[in-house]
Amino acid sequence: MITIIQVDTESLDDVKQAMGRLIDQLGYKPSKPRVFLKPNMVDALPPSHAVDVNPIVTAGLILALNEKFDIEEFVIGENSGYFSEKPETYQRLIETSGYKEMVENLKENYNIPLSLINLEYVEMDEYKWKFKPFKLKLPSILKTHSYINIPKMKTHGLCMVTLGVKNQIGLLLLRDKRNFHLGFRDDDGKYYSNLHGCISELGNLVKPELTICDATTALEGNGPTTNPGTTWVRKLDICIGGTDMIEVDNACCQIMGIPMDLVEHIPEVDGSIAPGSLPLECEEPFKRPVKRTEPYGNMYHHSSMWMCTGCQMTLTRMNRKIAYTPELREKLKEREKKYDRIDFFIGRTEEEDIPDEHGVLLFCGNCTEKVSRLYPDAVHVAGCPPHYRELAEKYVNL
Ligand code: SF4
Repeated sequence: MITIIQVDTESLDDVKQAMGRLIDQLGYKPSKPRVFLKPNMVDALPPSHAVDVNPIVTAGLILALNEKFDIEEFVIGENSGYFSEKPETYQRLIETSGYKEMVENLKENYNIPLSLINLEYVEMDEYKWKFKPFKLKLPSILKTHSYINIPKMKTHGLCMVTLGVKNQIGLLLLRDKRNFHLGFRDDDGKYYSNLHGCISELGNLVKPELTICDATTALEGNGPTTNPGTTWVRKLDICIGGTDMIEVDNACCQIMGIPMDLVEHIPEVDGSIAPGSLPLECEEPFKRPVKRTEPYGNMYHHSSMWMCTGCQMTLTRMNRKIAYTPELREKLKEREKKYDRIDFFIGRTEEEDIPDEHGVLLFCGNCTEKVSRLYPDAVHVAGCPPHYRELAEKYVNL
């Protein structure tokens, strides 16, 4: 069963009341005295960008749960990929997104027993997994706490949408995130899985007790993070909650005007709507991500689905850097005049992916290193992922 509620993010008390209604309409009660919340936090950006779950939504939910039930402890956790490896970048993520301040506020002013953890560095349990080496590590907290999944409503360049099922990728260790994106290999070293299959398999393995999608604001276009000129913020002022993650994701797709057959990783299911819910309807379909098959000026972008979050973030951060730096924009214009054609590769790339009629070759990341060695004149930017500033420099100064 799902419910859709109106949420006004101007005041924490209003959000708390709304979350209380959501819990009542679904008849939800945590099965354990400790609660683990997993909001989608993928980029160090303030809530106005609609990239991370607005901290006021997570805070309102915690206050509502705290008021209704006897909860011993709340833990918020995320492995954001790009920001989780180093303590200083994780710090930047939680500060800029507003989570650090929110946690301090709830602890100091509401006396909530609350902590915020980086899921890259927590105790893990081993689960049986479909792909070689047939084992997958996931945070132990999933078994000791009631798990609540909090996705952000967004369209996504590789997966069409990122909702509850996709948000669970933030439970993985960094090395497994890479395997999800690049593929698991068989005994002969051949890749034999893809991202959609892995995410949906993870959805079979781990099921949250409650999923609440933050659609107070949503991101449309080429998400999952801000990309100048190709993403837009949509204000909906709603949250969609349910005890079945797949039903919630189906309802969200309906609200976004995205047919389920375009979303490979979410099965289509019929759900029911709780009494008191807002109607389940699409007011205006979301702008969908655009896969660029045509060249952009003289630039041919070859970004396959075999690219993990690390390089995705490097690419979007590079685009933002160029868009907001007049000097780099000028250099880009000069570069346009210099070459007839540039071919840019990012993510897992094989020799057969390089077209015969290619122009100047630019390879990004360690995944392209092997193939780049076949082309002595090519430019390769090393790193896993490379630093976005270094990539921007090479990108405009070819
Ligand atoms: S090089 Fe890029 S795409 Fe390849 S594993 Fe590293 S971050 Fe991911």
